[in-house]
Amino acid sequence: MPKTITGGCACGAIRYECTEEPIVSAHCQCRGCQHFSGTGHMSILLVPADAVTVTGDPKFYESPADSGSTTRRGFCRNCGSPVIGKSSGMADVVFLPAGSLDDPSQFEPAVAVFTERGHAWDHLDSGLMKFPAMPPAMPGE
Ligand SMILES: [Zn+2]
Ligand SMILES: [Zn+2]
Repeated sequence: MPKTITGGCACGAIRYECTEEPIVSAHCQCRGCQHFSGTGHMSILLVPADAVTVTGDPKFYESPADSGSTTRRGFCRNCGSPVIGKSSGMADVVFLPAGSLDDPSQFEPAVAVFTERGHAWDHLDSGLMKFPAMPPAMPGE
């Protein structure tokens, strides 16, 4: 039985539940994730979109990604917490920010992507599989 993943924003206006295991968990150092997180990278779980139920009304900020896809980053319009991300390049997957999980220790990163955009001060676990850009098997950012 896959463990249900639950989480939401800081103020509780937005909640989500995911009934499937993550496809992959990653740190992403792309510029979009730097802006959205306010620091060196986003830590995200990629999960099947149809396994996720969102309650509340996130606001989405849309931006073009390096791959040509459009990334939509959803955040709470009250407290500003990032809660969900989507990419037009892979419609059947959504991203959940690790810090929004009710139990952030459920995040088990395996890979780091867009490491060519990473900064010297943003150290990641040296044991991670690293990709300078987006690996072909992952949704385009
Ligand atoms: Zn909120
Ligand atoms: Zn990113």
